[in-house]
Amino acid sequence: MTRDDARALDAADPLRPYRDRFALPDGVIYLDGNSLGPLPRETAPALADMAERQWGERLIRSWNEGWIDAPQRIGGKIAALIGAEPDEVIVADSTSVNLFKLLVAALRHAAPRTTIVSETGNFPTDLHIAEGATDCVPGARLNAVARADLSTAIDDDTALLMLTHVHYKTAERFDMAAWTTRAHDAGALALWDLSHSVGAIPLDLNAAGADLAIGCGYKYLNGGPGAPAFLFVSRRLQEQLASPLSGWMGHAAPFEFGDAYSPAPGIKRWLAGTPSMLAMVGLEAGIDLWRDVDQQHVAAKSAALFDALAAIGGRLGLECVSPTDPSARGSHISFRHPKAYALCQALIERGVIGDFRAPDVVRFGLTPLYLGFEDIWQAGEILRDVLESGAADDPRFATRAAVT
Ligand SMILES: *Cc1c(COP(=O)(O)O)cnc(C)c1O
Repeated sequence: MTRDDARALDAADPLRPYRDRFALPDGVIYLDGNSLGPLPRETAPALADMAERQWGERLIRSWNEGWIDAPQRIGGKIAALIGAEPDEVIVADSTSVNLFKLLVAALRHAAPRTTIVSETGNFPTDLHIAEGATDCVPGARLNAVARADLSTAIDDDTALLMLTHVHYKTAERFDMAAWTTRAHDAGALALWDLSHSVGAIPLDLNAAGADLAIGCGYKYLNGGPGAPAFLFVSRRLQEQLASPLSGWMGHAAPFEFGDAYSPAPGIKRWLAGTPSMLAMVGLEAGIDLWRDVDQQHVAAKSAALFDALAAIGGRLGLECVSPTDPSARGSHISFRHPKAYALCQALIERGVIGDFRAPDVVRFGLTPLYLGFEDIWQAGEILRDVLESGAADDPRFATRAAVT
């Protein structure tokens, strides 16, 4: 791909107008939107309106002027992106906390079945939270096995199959419908972590028969650092599962101020405490940007960006660890390199922001809403320069920062 080829692809790109809706800094090629989405232009004025008008002027009256319904309203907007009904999704807490709530609820529901089956090498918080959740339910346990052994690990003691749909490191994607069916055939539920899927690839939870799901607001949804997360509970299960974090916001009548807990009907019972409105406003601005986006355009462009960067990496002798089949992956590309951390730092110093995932992976997020083909071309030139000049050998890159 020459620079002119890249420019021609950008000129023909139906998603090109979305780029201007982000405040991207000059001199940066941002290939880390899978870890922290950039700032949408609409977000800063929305945050200012929240602080100055909604909080500053309207004060507590704002709770009845749109705040109290925000978790369900924003959940309904996310539902449209993941193939769910609007009343099956709610925004609350963090991805980790939502996972905890759903795992404990599912384990209690599935008794006498005791086991959560998952994958070794899953995103760490998923396995850590599963350990914590099993500690809360007598007899429960986590069985994490290699991907190749998952199918045989699912048996008549499996309460729940817990999988991350798109792998954070390699971008490998599970066939959601096939694995959900596999779990159901064994009498188990299926829970999907959509953190690296939502806003990255088209999703259809209900077509796949999924039971439960969680996902992240600050990655491809561009909701801001630490944005609230979401959770999905299929209508089939909503009256059967109860949150272990039985807080007043999930109560059937929170403003009756009663002593005894009685869960709200439907999805609202998954709220625990008062939602963080300062954070909600950033999330909603990020989600609203997705309103008219055609997911098929996103998928097609993601595949083309991947092919462009994979070809550049291949010419430079990098080992790609992401699947070549677009239907078998998410929307990032990872290369293995013995000096992956230093390589990543040298690139960041030159304005190409990707990230490092231990022990030896450099990861680049391919976010079709705001990345262009010319960005990929230019990132490729800088990558070639870094590799050929030995810039990664700089001793300044020998020690790792706290966040990689
Ligand atoms: C990013 C990510 C999370 C994040 O969890 P937090 O509670 O927001 O820290 C969880 N799971 C997966 C698979 C992720 O990629």
